[in-house]
Amino acid sequence: MRVAIAGYGVEGEQNYRYWAGRGDEVTIIDEREQLDRTIPAGAQVRLGEGSLDALDDFDMVVRTAGLSPAKLVTQTKIWSATNEFFVQCPAPIIGVTGSKGKGTTCSLITSVLRAAGYTVHLVGNIGTPALEVLSEISPDHIVVYELSSFQLWDIERSPHFAAVLHIEPDHLDVHADFDEYIMAKSRIVAFQSSDDTCVYHPTNQWSEQIARQHPHFSTNTAKYAQRSADPSAVATVRVDGEYFVTSSGDIVAPVQSLMLPGTHNIDNACAALSVCLNYDVTPEQYARGLSQFGGLPHRLRIVAEKNSVVYYDDSIATTPGSAIAAIAAFNAPKVLLLGGSYKGADFTELASTIRDSDVRHVLLMGEETGRIAQTLEKAGVSSYEYVDGTMNDIVRRASEVAQPGDVVILSPACASFGMFRDYKDRGDQFIAAVETL
Ligand code: ADP
Repeated sequence: MRVAIAGYGVEGEQNYRYWAGRGDEVTIIDEREQLDRTIPAGAQVRLGEGSLDALDDFDMVVRTAGLSPAKLVTQTKIWSATNEFFVQCPAPIIGVTGSKGKGTTCSLITSVLRAAGYTVHLVGNIGTPALEVLSEISPDHIVVYELSSFQLWDIERSPHFAAVLHIEPDHLDVHADFDEYIMAKSRIVAFQSSDDTCVYHPTNQWSEQIARQHPHFSTNTAKYAQRSADPSAVATVRVDGEYFVTSSGDIVAPVQSLMLPGTHNIDNACAALSVCLNYDVTPEQYARGLSQFGGLPHRLRIVAEKNSVVYYDDSIATTPGSAIAAIAAFNAPKVLLLGGSYKGADFTELASTIRDSDVRHVLLMGEETGRIAQTLEKAGVSSYEYVDGTMNDIVRRASEVAQPGDVVILSPACASFGMFRDYKDRGDQFIAAVETL
């Protein structure tokens, strides 16, 4: 078969390995003139502007996740690593999507099911690339798949169990608009059968809008984490006092088994535990699985305490909603480091949250400074300033304005490009800067 690997980044490289490894005749296609990774010896390559417009001589075009399907103008079958994995995978798949919380929720599910003795493959952004583990998966294993809108965009199957987390406008620099983003995410349930279930966020309207695309919405979906018992046929988990409990009131695990800060993580745990109810897990295994997961790097992680001020790295908080979650996670007064590159976000709710909570001061950086400052002004927030300089300068300024007992949080609500290589680089620079204080 003649296969075009459209988009040659990290995922394109894996796609090349997979399809070339099957013996297909593979060509690398990328609209960039030059690639930042080595092209395999002997590979056929078509680069540069217009290269995505001439795909009709292939039998299949494999789209890399971040490349919009709209850019691929062809009659040829468009496919992706995610589609291929869903067709080939012999084990049941748990799919998790949402604007934020996917990585954490997938990790909690994996930790709990592993504590219960299951063999679990965690695939997607935070796990292993799906096609790379395909050959190791047997029917009695479980796959936990972190699914972004880019992967769901043109997916032709849905997972057996779906969790739809908190949704907010995101990636509008790539998606045409928010409706397109919601439609892409909806595919996580659109092809579910009457045997497949979905749990969704208790109060987020867009999460529910997505769940409503389930062909059996009224019987096969339910809200996780909602305060009162859910009469739906799908069992879910909520918090009752000190415990996570099922919708019928059975104790799952103590809330204090969860090691992650913030009520948003309690919600994520409810989503994770709701999915795990489909398997045989004892209360002791639930508690152990929760407590064994200490959080992922750059997600609201404590860096250090310096002069009675505690510094938190939440560099992956690239949306206003995740920065709002960080503000809500601490009772102490806060100094907030905000800003970065454009992703189409609306900062209105973040600004009113800052106004209504104990944020002492906001330090702004990067391309979005002007838009954030305007929104803060409109909301009546005056305690902010722009810091022109390196991460060291920003952190030093934070240490000057913070009072003993405060927390300083890097939770930028924006992408990192321009000033930093990526969110990891931004977080690492923050950690290094805090260490110099
Ligand atoms: P994702 O994989 O979807 O990017 P992560 O679990 O890696 O999500 O978390 C990314 C960021 O989002 C972190 O800053 C985290 O604190 C924040 N976050 C996690 N869950 C939620 C949630 N339910 N609502 C809002 N923000 C969240």
